[in-house]
Amino acid sequence: MTPIHYLRRRNRVLSTVADSGLDGALLTRPVNVRYLTGFTGTNGWLLVTAEEVFFLTDPRYQQQAFAQVSDLSIVIAPRGLAKGFAEAVINSGMERVAFEPHHVTVILREQLEAMVDVEWVPFPMLVETQRCCKEAEEIEAIRAALLVSEAAFQEVANGLAPGQTEIEVASDLELYCRRHGAESMAFETIVASGSRSALPHGVASTRCIEAGEPIMIDLGCKIDGYCSDLTRMIWCGGMPSRHWLEVHDIVNAARAAALETIGPGIAAIEVDAAAREVIQDVGFGPAFVHGTGHGVGLEIHESPKVSSRSNQPLEVGMVLTIEPGLYLEGEFGIRIEDLVCVTEDGCECLTTLETEPMLRGTA
Ligand code: ZN
Ligand code: ZN
Repeated sequence: MTPIHYLRRRNRVLSTVADSGLDGALLTRPVNVRYLTGFTGTNGWLLVTAEEVFFLTDPRYQQQAFAQVSDLSIVIAPRGLAKGFAEAVINSGMERVAFEPHHVTVILREQLEAMVDVEWVPFPMLVETQRCCKEAEEIEAIRAALLVSEAAFQEVANGLAPGQTEIEVASDLELYCRRHGAESMAFETIVASGSRSALPHGVASTRCIEAGEPIMIDLGCKIDGYCSDLTRMIWCGGMPSRHWLEVHDIVNAARAAALETIGPGIAAIEVDAAAREVIQDVGFGPAFVHGTGHGVGLEIHESPKVSSRSNQPLEVGMVLTIEPGLYLEGEFGIRIEDLVCVTEDGCECLTTLETEPMLRGTA
């Protein structure tokens, strides 16, 4: 990402708030500040106005700010960002300024109102809406993170044997990712074996994997700040039951139906309905306890949601997961998760791993 990318993004924010008759926007949510500046620290604010762009941080991040956002007016605020902000904009002439209501706390809002004499206007999803549609460089970073996750899955699944604990498997996956370019994991790795696979979010436990068991693995890592997300099923030792394979086929058919439906202008709810219908038709409706997918980018869960409550129309460049799952308490759960990018004529599946279950140590 270059300074031009960040400038274009900030200009889009500026024109959005200008359309609502506002003089500027104060961005405080770290992931949005990163999106608009490239600053990767945890304490930075951005004030975007037509005249000037201020970047505020505390002395811990002074060096980093001058390295990462040297194109902006940097304010180092040793007595807190709110104070630094008030001093920087005291004579700016601004009258109405947007803020991020889902991030600014009640206390911070009171402080801002007391210190800066402007009208503070809540502007929900100001940056998140723009972040939905990815630029080519963002898609490449997501693809790179996904490739590493897929390679980790293949490498670790190939070596998987009964007797390992879920945590051992998770740490092997994570070590592989970090050794192959991931800066961190995107979320806590899920390795859920046996009946624990019926937990939709069964993060790895000390449970020992036994022969003749299913394992759900859901992992993702980050490259250049961008996340990947991948779920596949493994059967460890012996042959899976016909019942398990049938349920796997149903989930896979639901995944395929959702992928078929995706395209620009299609509402997210229609994609969810396509997957849900396949599962409902065979009587498993109540066991599909979550939405079909979610947007992925700088955050592992971001807009758009692909659920039965999301009317958001899909647009070219959106990157989303498709991850139907069935959870049969006391038995097992199955989820298959792909990552796709919406294109002019449908979608491109970024995930390259086959969707069939991996059979390990089959006699
Ligand atoms: Zn996942
Ligand atoms: Zn996911």
